[in-house]
Amino acid sequence: ILQLYVPLNFLGTYYRMIKQCMVDVESMFKLLREHQEVEDLQDSKVLVLKSKADARVEFENVTFAYNPNERLILNRVSFIVEPGTKVALVGRSGAGKSTISKLIYRLYDIQGGVIRIAGQDIKRCTQRSVRLHIGIVPQDCVLFNDTIEYNIGFGKLGTGEVATTDEVTAAAEHAQFDDFVRRQPLGYNTLVGERGLRLSGGEKQRVAIARALLKNPPIMVYDEATSSLDTHTEKQIMVAINFAAQGRTNLVIAHRLSTVMDSDNILVLKEGEIVESGDHVTLHGKQRGLYRDMWEQQLNSKNSREDRVASAAAL
Ligand code: ATP
Repeated sequence: ILQLYVPLNFLGTYYRMIKQCMVDVESMFKLLREHQEVEDLQDSKVLVLKSKADARVEFENVTFAYNPNERLILNRVSFIVEPGTKVALVGRSGAGKSTISKLIYRLYDIQGGVIRIAGQDIKRCTQRSVRLHIGIVPQDCVLFNDTIEYNIGFGKLGTGEVATTDEVTAAAEHAQFDDFVRRQPLGYNTLVGERGLRLSGGEKQRVAIARALLKNPPIMVYDEATSSLDTHTEKQIMVAINFAAQGRTNLVIAHRLSTVMDSDNILVLKEGEIVESGDHVTLHGKQRGLYRDMWEQQLNSKNSREDRVASAAAL
């Protein structure tokens, strides 16, 4: 019996490990597609940040193409995100917004220019040390076939620690997700993922914010969900982002202009170049500007009554 018990016990352990790894397949493929393109230089250094107040993100004349023989996706892009501020990236689909977030995370190396964090060229720093300082809130986060508690607590793994139940609950509260969880009969033990409760785009985004809060990095990059969210969910996500943004360096890739009005700076991207930058009032005041055009288009589209009211209030 013992001879049988040991291998069966092993099998059980492997079964549990495999089950844990069964993630939302579609999202996993998305991750795999962003495979490791980048290798650390032989003499690469560890990115050093003394405090959150050091975490200045700087793009200087950044030029990038996914394939060096193909067209440029970013052309001489320069901007700075100061610690404690929130900068928004807007632009039509395909302008290069998500590409900028991938470059900050050093998923790819650039062909020209420099990206610096706290004055250090990230190309010369280990990927691990760069990523440790950045929290990414993706449009569509990967969910494990496990409980909500595990799916949120997983955020802390980036730091090498395991989150406690209290930490998970606090992160979910700040991410405006706790009410949703408490409405489920099994609360934080509710199974999610492919074989559990399927979460909507807005719910997944709040899981991602909670995870990022547990990681507690100095820099946050939010890729706003493109799926249409109801006004209530959109507001909850804005509250969550504004909480997470406190005291950090923040870059928001925005798909809805109503969410960028309170940004310290808005960068308007067109075909890989920054064509306008400034705060909402300045950019909206520019006749024939792209930002203003985008607003008018959004206001003319349906479901825009609230945007119209918000815009009028901001001006
Ligand atoms: P959206 O608002 O639709 O998300 P975006 O402004 O974020 O668009 P990006 O996703 O940065 O745009 O894409 C910029 C350009 O780079 C697009 O033309 C896109 O087709 C191309 N692109 C994006 N990812 C890759 C990739 N992995 N390989 C090759 N080209 C890519």
